[in-house]
Amino acid sequence: MYEKLFSKIYIEESLRYHPRVQSILNALHAKPEKLEYLENYQDVFGSQTKEYLLKRHDLALFLAEKKGQLVKEAPLGYAGYAKAAGGDGDGFHASGLARKRRHFYFIHAYNCIYECSYCYLQGYFRSPDIVLFMNHEDILAAMKEQVHACDKENTEAVFHSGEFSDSLALSKLSKELPLYWDFFAKHPSCSLELRSKSLSIQELFNLKPLKNICVTMSLSSEAQRSRYEEKTPPIASRIKALTKLAGKGFSVGMHLDPLIYDDGFKQNFSKFALGLFDSFRPYQENIRHISVGLVRFSNSSWKEFRKNYSHSGILAERFYPGFDGKQRYLRPLRKWMLGFARATLIEAGFSEKYLYDCMDN
Ligand code: SF4
Repeated sequence: MYEKLFSKIYIEESLRYHPRVQSILNALHAKPEKLEYLENYQDVFGSQTKEYLLKRHDLALFLAEKKGQLVKEAPLGYAGYAKAAGGDGDGFHASGLARKRRHFYFIHAYNCIYECSYCYLQGYFRSPDIVLFMNHEDILAAMKEQVHACDKENTEAVFHSGEFSDSLALSKLSKELPLYWDFFAKHPSCSLELRSKSLSIQELFNLKPLKNICVTMSLSSEAQRSRYEEKTPPIASRIKALTKLAGKGFSVGMHLDPLIYDDGFKQNFSKFALGLFDSFRPYQENIRHISVGLVRFSNSSWKEFRKNYSHSGILAERFYPGFDGKQRYLRPLRKWMLGFARATLIEAGFSEKYLYDCMDN
């Protein structure tokens, strides 16, 4: 399934015989002429600018070791989680106790096989090539340090994967999920959120649902997906995958983010919300949160987006730099959209306690 995905595979010399590298190369049926060994992946990755849209037909894979900071504290906008119903809780407290939380993301990969035109990664890295980091044990050790620090301050450490890549899209290839499952089974005081648009959920079915791991999908109306999310699975399939997980006892979440205001937004979102509630009606006790967020761009991704997608329908509305320098819709439109989305979801049947607004002000 992945054989034709990568035009070239770069491997750090120190990882040449690493079992994870071998397993990935086997799964890719990688031919020797496609492989290149190098000292440090950064000798090539990002050393020169590679145009983002080259990912359509010339995507390289790097198998590397992550050095430097392996776990980062998330920006303040993540505090949106704490604002979900109940004041300080969205029902997803690992320990069952409503405690203060600190949010972190860990970095196990860079870039993504999908092509959402609003993706902030286009302005983040100088290359769309995929990097998979092999040193999960180091990442887990860094996470453990944060868990211990949080335990001391009676704070819950909430980890997120998927800040720089899709959490599940390549998990069948990289096979790291059992390691993380094991970690969270042993550290019940902290929690994990996986975020994805992928239907690659088979790996999860081999794992036991854990109270402190939540699998989330980014969702939108199908009209929005077909306009702005190249190569991503259809929304109906994503919803089906997520309900399957909920049906097996997994905690699930939904990110209705980013919402984009364009032709038919109201009708499309209303129809989507009704269908979403119908699908999750039997599984409501497994829902941990539903976030609603609006399209936004950092300065660098805004520049790249306008270059790469100059005819995008996203540009039909005007954007302005906001409180954090990010490009957003004007405040009245943002306020209206968030209010409309929230009211529509509640009207469709979702309890208000699941809802929170993401990264807006
Ligand atoms: S799925 Fe996420 S990471 Fe991948 S292209 Fe879309 S927005 Fe970017």
